[in-house]
Amino acid sequence: MIKRFGILLLVSTILLGSMSAAIRPKNVIFLIGDGMGMAQVYAAMVANGNKLEVERCKHVGYSKTYCANRFVTDSGAGGTALATGVKTNYGMIGMSPDSVAVETILEQSERNGLATGIVVTCAITYVTPATFIAHQHHRSMYEEVAADFLKTDIDVFIGGGRKYFETRKDGRNLIQELKDKQYQIAFDMDEVKKINSGKLAGLIHEDQPPAMPERGDLLSDATMTAINILNKNEKGFFLMVEGSQIDWAGHSNDVEQIIMETLDFDKTVGKVLDFAEKDKTTLVIITADHETGGLTLTDGNINQRKVKTHFSTKSHSGIPVPVFAFGPGAEEFTGFMENIDFKGKIEKLLKLK
Ligand SMILES: [Zn+2]
Repeated sequence: MIKRFGILLLVSTILLGSMSAAIRPKNVIFLIGDGMGMAQVYAAMVANGNKLEVERCKHVGYSKTYCANRFVTDSGAGGTALATGVKTNYGMIGMSPDSVAVETILEQSERNGLATGIVVTCAITYVTPATFIAHQHHRSMYEEVAADFLKTDIDVFIGGGRKYFETRKDGRNLIQELKDKQYQIAFDMDEVKKINSGKLAGLIHEDQPPAMPERGDLLSDATMTAINILNKNEKGFFLMVEGSQIDWAGHSNDVEQIIMETLDFDKTVGKVLDFAEKDKTTLVIITADHETGGLTLTDGNINQRKVKTHFSTKSHSGIPVPVFAFGPGAEEFTGFMENIDFKGKIEKLLKLK
């Protein structure tokens, strides 16, 4: 009896040990579908044969997106809430409503010795990526945002926006300054894909990268390149990935384009989940900064993979957006959340100071 109890104790200790080891993630990959509400997700799901990669996430919730001074947010205030845990005013980047710079989860990760990265399908200086690394009064300050990248030690960033680093009003050549800081510079995806360690600045388009399908596998290829580099850091990494152009298709009320952009994002989600599944120490969080278009699906046909749509606005809407999570700590990201809750939860899980 005593012997059996001993074995039981041993087994349960091993089980508990492995459980507690699994609770805390080492890496966080935060994927944002800009303007991706539930209708965008479901339209893409129907078009894809009633399935998406994102369905592999069993922890699901909602995020309330309102900002400090408006019910309907923009990506500046929306991204700032996700990145800093502070609700700010419409159009602001990484600052509180009273214009005080607030540390982002990326900056905090870096300060704690984690490797950091940003991968987007817009200019790297555009709104959502800016909210994770820059601090400016207004979202349109692209050259100032480019200069803010130089103030950090971010390891990998890939997107468009080369001209904001190269052809500047202040005469600075930030490409040279990046080289001086030991960055490898890549101006197209072939060059990006060759890099597998060190620091990487991938400025692969002059301004905004093209829409799908012209863009090809930019998002998934750039994301996997970033993961491969960042994962070499023993202390772990924080990576933000944005499907930037779901929002733009929403502004155009173009459902075919919304579906293409959302499927491109979901393909990347699938590759990230494959990595996380094998790695077992990576928390994957997928959400949006707001919904765009006020999209509703008024009819459809699952077998024909078709949806009938109605848009209520050319702008954003105020409805909460879905949250999907996978991996250690995923259970923290369920139910109704405020968009300012993400930062604190990630900070706690990664034990950042
Ligand atoms: Zn928008």
